[in-house]
Amino acid sequence: MKTTPTKPKKPLIYYYFIMMLILFAFNLFITPMIQSQRIQEVSYSEFISVLEQQQADQVEIDNSSGTIMYTVKDNDRNVFVTGILPNDTSLSQKLEDSGADYTSSIPQQNSFWLDLLTWLIPLFIIIGVGQLFSRQLTKKMGANTMTFGKSSAKVYVAAETGKTFKDVAGQDEAKEALSEIVDFLHNPQKYKKLGAKMPKGALLVGPPGTGKTLLAKAVAGEANVPFFSISGSEFVEMFVGMGAARVRDLFKQAQEKAPCIVFIDEIDTIGKKRDSANGIGGNDEREQTLNQLLAEMDGFDGSKGVVILAATNRPESLDKALLRPGRFDRRIPVELPDMKGREDILKVHARDIIVDDQIDYRTIALATSGASGAELANIVNEAALAAVRHGHNKVLQRDFDEAVDTVIAGKERKGAVISEKEKRIIAYHEIGHALVAAVSKNSAPVHKITIIPHTNGSLGYTMQVAEQESVLMTKDEILEKICTLTGGRAAEELIFNVCTSGAANDIEQATKLARAMVAQLGMSDQFGMTALETINNRYLSGDASLVCSNETAAQIDREVMDIIKNAHQQATRILQDNAQLLHEEAEYLLQKETITGEEFMEIFNRHRQQPAADSQTETHS
Ligand code: ADP
Ligand code: MG
Ligand code: ZN
Repeated sequence: MKTTPTKPKKPLIYYYFIMMLILFAFNLFITPMIQSQRIQEVSYSEFISVLEQQQADQVEIDNSSGTIMYTVKDNDRNVFVTGILPNDTSLSQKLEDSGADYTSSIPQQNSFWLDLLTWLIPLFIIIGVGQLFSRQLTKKMGANTMTFGKSSAKVYVAAETGKTFKDVAGQDEAKEALSEIVDFLHNPQKYKKLGAKMPKGALLVGPPGTGKTLLAKAVAGEANVPFFSISGSEFVEMFVGMGAARVRDLFKQAQEKAPCIVFIDEIDTIGKKRDSANGIGGNDEREQTLNQLLAEMDGFDGSKGVVILAATNRPESLDKALLRPGRFDRRIPVELPDMKGREDILKVHARDIIVDDQIDYRTIALATSGASGAELANIVNEAALAAVRHGHNKVLQRDFDEAVDTVIAGKERKGAVISEKEKRIIAYHEIGHALVAAVSKNSAPVHKITIIPHTNGSLGYTMQVAEQESVLMTKDEILEKICTLTGGRAAEELIFNVCTSGAANDIEQATKLARAMVAQLGMSDQFGMTALETINNRYLSGDASLVCSNETAAQIDREVMDIIKNAHQQATRILQDNAQLLHEEAEYLLQKETITGEEFMEIFNRHRQQPAADSQTETHS
C-alpha cells in the first residue's frame, strides 16, 4: 500500500471559482433580462390617463423608493413603473375613482437582506455540493490521503501473498537457504534450545527479473506469517525526516506482529554507500533513513521471530555497514536461470494457460539463453496471445516460437518500406554472419535468419542457438564470436563495396567482447592476467571502469583495435573463399525473407560436398 500525497484541494478551488463566476454572470445579465421584459417605465401623465380611462388593474405605491408600479387590465405580463409626484393631492381621489385595486406599501427596508439571501442560498448549495465531491474524491483515493504526515501506520499492511515455493522454478540454492528461515519461523524453540541465533536479515541479490520479489513472497506464503512489504524508494518520499520515522514505525509494527517477515525491496535506494565526499548538500535524508535502519536492526531482538529480507540488483553499491554480521549477514544469490531452470520456469507459467501436450520446452529454453524469469513469463504470455490471434484453441509450438522472436527482437514490422537495393545489402549482411559462424569450429549452430525488420530497430538478424549451454567460454570461442560479429560488415564490403550503418550493433558487441578479453579476462598476450577494469554493477549494465594509468589505457585501446581488425580480416577471408555459397544463400534468403537453420545448412552442406568450388575453407584460426 502506498500513501498518495494530497492533491484534491486544487480541483475544488477551481470548482468554487467557476461556480462563483457563473453566479455572478447570472446576477449581472440573466436577472435584468428576465425583468426587462416585464417592467416598463412610463411617464406620470400616462399613468394619470390610464387611471382616468379606468384601465388600471393593480396599483402599488412604494413610498420608500418614491415609485408607483401598476398593471393594466387584460395585460398581466407587463408592469409599468413611474415616479410619485409629491404634491399631487388629488391622486388618492383619482385612484378611488378609477376603481383600481391599490395599496400603499410600507417602506421596504428588508431589500438589502433579500439581496443578500439571493446570493447566500446558492452559495451554500455550491459549497455543500463541493464538499460532497471532495469527500468522494478522498474516499476513492484511499482513506489516508488527508492524513498524510500524521502517521504512516497504515502503510505497511500484512499481506497474504498466496505464493509458495512451488511458484518459483529453479533457484534451488536460494530456496534451500530460505527454507531454513521458514523453519525458524515455524519453530523458533528448536533453535533457541541450542542457543543458535537466526540471522536477522538475508539479502537477495541478482539481476532484475530473476524472481527476488517472488521468492520473498513465497517465503511468507510458506511460513504462513504476516508479510510487511515496502520498497526502498517509499522511504525517501515526501518530507525530510519522514524516512527515518517510517523505518521506526515499520519495525514497531513488525515487533508487535512477530513472528513475521519484513521485506524491503530495492534496498539500494536507501542503502547506498554513505559518501563523505558530499558532506555538504549530500543526501542527508537518505543517510538519516539508513542510520535509522541500522539502529533498528541492531536494536530488535531477533529471537522473537522477525526476519528481515531485502532485495537488490546492485549489491556493490550497498553501504558496508549494512552487510556486516548481525545485519544482512546472509547473502542469497538469485542468478539468471540455467537451461534446466528456464525449462522449469516455462513449465510453471504454462500451468496457467491451455497448452498443447507436444510442446518442446527444452528447445525454447535453449533458444532463450540469458533470459530472466520475468522474460520467460512474458514469453509464455506472448505465446498465449499469439494463439488467440491465430485462432488456435490451445497454445502450439509455433506460437511459442513466435513469442520468443517477439520478446527477443520485438514484433515484425511488416509495413516497413525498404528498397530492393537495401534489402539485398541486408540479406548479404545476415548471411555474412551466418556463414562465418557456420565455418567456425566452436560457434553455435545457426537457428534462424531473417531480413524482416523488427520493432526493436533491427533490420534483420541471425539467431544462433547452442546445442548445450556452457558456463565457460574459451579464448577461441570469444575470438570466433567477434569474427562472426564482423562477418556482416565484411559481406557488405566484399559484395557491394560499401559500409552501412547496419553494423552499428555488431560493432558495439564486438568491442565489448574484445575489451573484456583484454581488461578483465586476462586473454591478451601483452597484459596477461592483470585486472585493468572493475565492473561497477554486475547485474545491471555491466559497466566497467578502468583501474590503470593513462598509458595502459591507450595500450588497451590499441590491443582491442588489433583484435577486432584481425577478426574482420579473417571474416573477409572466409567469405572470399566461400563467395559462391554466399551468393546462393543470400539469394535464397532474399526470396524467402526468413529461413531456418536447417535450410541454411542444407545449402551449406551441399556446397561443402563439392570441395572443388571452395578449396581452402579451413584457413581460419
Ligand atoms: P525481481 O524482483 O528479481 O526483479 P520478480 O520477483 O519481480 O523479479 O519477478 C518478476 C516475475 O517474473 C515474477 O512475478 C514471475 O512471474 C517471473 N519469475 C521470475 N523468476 C521466476 C522463477 N524463478 N520462477 C517462476 N517465475 C519467475
Ligand atoms: Mg523486484
Ligand atoms: Zn549484423
